[in-house]
Amino acid sequence: MISNPAIILVDVQNDFFSGPLKIERITNVIEPLKRLVVAARKNHVPVIYAVDAHYPQDVEVVRQWGNHAIKGTKGAEVIPELQPDITSDFVVEKRTYSGFYETGLDPLLRSLYKGDGVKTVILGGLHTQLCVRHTAADAFFRGYRIIIVKDGVEAFSAADQEQGLKYLEYVYDAKIMTANEVIREIVG
Ligand code: ZN
Repeated sequence: MISNPAIILVDVQNDFFSGPLKIERITNVIEPLKRLVVAARKNHVPVIYAVDAHYPQDVEVVRQWGNHAIKGTKGAEVIPELQPDITSDFVVEKRTYSGFYETGLDPLLRSLYKGDGVKTVILGGLHTQLCVRHTAADAFFRGYRIIIVKDGVEAFSAADQEQGLKYLEYVYDAKIMTANEVIREIVG
């Protein structure tokens, strides 16, 4: 059993799937993540979206990536296939790579499970070596256990994906599991 889990989906937004930062292989994550969130909701495992909501002035927009996922635009919306269930899910907006950086994610996690708090974060989404990695780092610093959904994260290339997963395992003690393996664990 995974102790007090929460699913965190990072940057599953239009601009990364069909907009300026799109890459072909990214669509691989959709089907496994869809299965995972359906199972999570059924089993009362919290589902949290940690998504970019940029201002054009944000550091990573100006200095590194150009305009993407600008707050309030179509490109910043979660992709249709993975729409949040507004009756149960949470959406946390972030302005740089980590889902924890100056957002309400940590207090949210600590408030769940009747105040006992989330103990294990299960990370899916984009990109393995960027926002997933930074979110994992911040989760690790705060003492959370980390599981990475192997077929639910993607990167710019196969090499990035492979190295990204290795790094997460080596540096943040992340457990690398498939969506099906996670589903088996959370189905009580
Ligand atoms: Zn961004």
